[in-house]
Amino acid sequence: MPIRVTVWGENYHEQKNEHIRKIYPNGLHGAIAEGIKSHLGEEAEVRTATQDQDHHGLTDDILEQTDVMTWWGHVQHHLVDDAIVAKVYQRVLSGMGLIVLHSGHWSKIFVKLMGTTCALRWRDDDSETVFTVNPGHPIAHNVPPVFHIPEQEMYGEYFDIPQPDELVFLSSFKGGEVFRSGCCFTRGQGRIFFFSPGHETYPVYHQDEVKQIIANAVKWSYNPPKPRYATSTCVHSPLGWMSGSEQS
Ligand code: ZN
Repeated sequence: MPIRVTVWGENYHEQKNEHIRKIYPNGLHGAIAEGIKSHLGEEAEVRTATQDQDHHGLTDDILEQTDVMTWWGHVQHHLVDDAIVAKVYQRVLSGMGLIVLHSGHWSKIFVKLMGTTCALRWRDDDSETVFTVNPGHPIAHNVPPVFHIPEQEMYGEYFDIPQPDELVFLSSFKGGEVFRSGCCFTRGQGRIFFFSPGHETYPVYHQDEVKQIIANAVKWSYNPPKPRYATSTCVHSPLGWMSGSEQS
């Protein structure tokens, strides 16, 4: 069964700004979705949802049918309905994967899941060098040890997040800043990956290394729905304390 992916986008800049629309004629969400499809093919079933749609495109049915969600937002975070955020939060706790991209660091859902301010330092008009600091990690599969993003906004430390479970990428910038650009977390049964490259005025989501990383993160964060245990399941214990009506 393919991984059911919902690529969520704010869909604001690309509607308002001609320059950004030229870079992302199908929206940032469209480019992110295409990147996942190009790397995962039939392994993934990819749909998009945007903030301007009813329920931000995230109805109960869509949420229920989503195994992994990606999230890109920037200037409209405050307009995302708290009730929808609460539902996405519950889906993560019950096992939905979540990939938070770039300025999504300040989305309501990411801040709620992290429990910190998620603030960082930033400066426009830079370039980024991404180092793979955990080459054996599944999200680093087929990613070079180091790669360059010619045009990118600088995100710098201190980034106010809890210590990640795993750090996969670390970036540096022209000003000498460093940034934890690829971080893994677990909340409940859900796996969360934050990946910082992806400023809207630059073609970052058309770059192949970036597409590969997001596709890898989709696979890593996928938590296949588990079958419910039947009441007749036989549980063996050396102490025998599980004996009783549930034992077969
Ligand atoms: Zn940005």
